[in-house]
Amino acid sequence: MTHKTYDAAVEADWALATKLVRGGLRRSAFGETSEALFLNSGFVYDDAEEAEARFKGEAAGYMYSRYGNPTIAMLEERLALLEGAEDCFATATGMAGVFTALMASTKAGDHVIASRALFGSCHHIVTQLLPRWGVETTLVDGPDLDQWQAALRPETVAAFIETPANPTLELIDIAAVAEIVHQSGARLIVDNVFATPLLQRPLALGADVVVYSATKHIDGQGRCLGGAILSDRAFIREKVEPLMRHTGPSLSPFNAWVMLKGLETLELRVTRHCENAAFVAARLEHSTKIKHVLYPGLDSFPQRDLARRQMTGGSSLVSFELDGGKAEAFRLLNALTLIDISNNLGDAKSLITHPTTTTHRAMGAEGRAAIGVGDGLVRVSVGLEDKHDIAADLEQALTAV
Ligand SMILES: *Cc1c(COP(=O)(O)O)cnc(C)c1O
Repeated sequence: MTHKTYDAAVEADWALATKLVRGGLRRSAFGETSEALFLNSGFVYDDAEEAEARFKGEAAGYMYSRYGNPTIAMLEERLALLEGAEDCFATATGMAGVFTALMASTKAGDHVIASRALFGSCHHIVTQLLPRWGVETTLVDGPDLDQWQAALRPETVAAFIETPANPTLELIDIAAVAEIVHQSGARLIVDNVFATPLLQRPLALGADVVVYSATKHIDGQGRCLGGAILSDRAFIREKVEPLMRHTGPSLSPFNAWVMLKGLETLELRVTRHCENAAFVAARLEHSTKIKHVLYPGLDSFPQRDLARRQMTGGSSLVSFELDGGKAEAFRLLNALTLIDISNNLGDAKSLITHPTTTTHRAMGAEGRAAIGVGDGLVRVSVGLEDKHDIAADLEQALTAV
């Protein structure tokens, strides 16, 4: 058996950096320093009575790693502690987290409102999959609160937003949307991937559920896929757990262990990501080849006040619009010598993507126009290399444009 190393009350009092390193730690009888990797699918019982008692829920203990494993439990507890959430369920990927959170909130006949500017696969779930199960969905322009109010119905049970949104970094006022959708008792689900647990606290702002793709900054080093759903205990245990248990998009213990090690350095990395991104954004603003730079940390950012109110940093993503559309964007990407062309983000390595031809291709020209994604838009995930090298690579590539 593993035992929690610290009392919950002690852990809750720790500052963030301490929670990131030690939160949820359980040491086995061997007294290992680092979190142990329990790479096992099943568990054994001392006798038949013990097996029966665990399946009845009368005895504590693990049964099967699809719904519980000590390494995964350490990750879940650490994430819950960081987020200030009562409970957490880890998932195989960020998309498994988004899908399960939405399925756990809805049934046929219900209504869901989502902001239009969503990660491509989230957009697919909301507009293609939910309607197949009889859940009606309405898309709104996330920042326009009047549209949220107008879309609300008595049968609205959930609202789904991503802020900052990919790739425009458009922000949505979490507290204001929470207040509106709570009028019908709907749950506000926030995809907090871009902000990470460090830059924005959706639950404290009034949201009900937070989902993460741990693949991004939590791993942050391009190794594993993973995700998490965080909320109150009733939602996690009564709605999410049965779905996870019986449908099975569970996180691998190995990936959970990688994510635990990732969390230990999350604050160091995100701080540096933001510092580098702010530097790169400011340098790009000087370029005559660029129409505008989008970065929530810039004074020129249209929603600067909201950024200051609900975020403590600008994030690691910088987007900018080139004159000349796709041809010029491709010329820029192909002229880079340090930054890699990749649709991933939140990685130690700086990555660049052209959303129109990759992540937002399936959305179609009309869908892209509605969220302000033009053919000349490129998105940079600013990594942990030296900020001068990153900016210099972009500047030399801009001379090719
Ligand atoms: C990457 C991402 C996801 C999906 O996460 P996966 O781990 O790739 O499944 C969902 N939302 C946002 C905002 C993302 O960036």
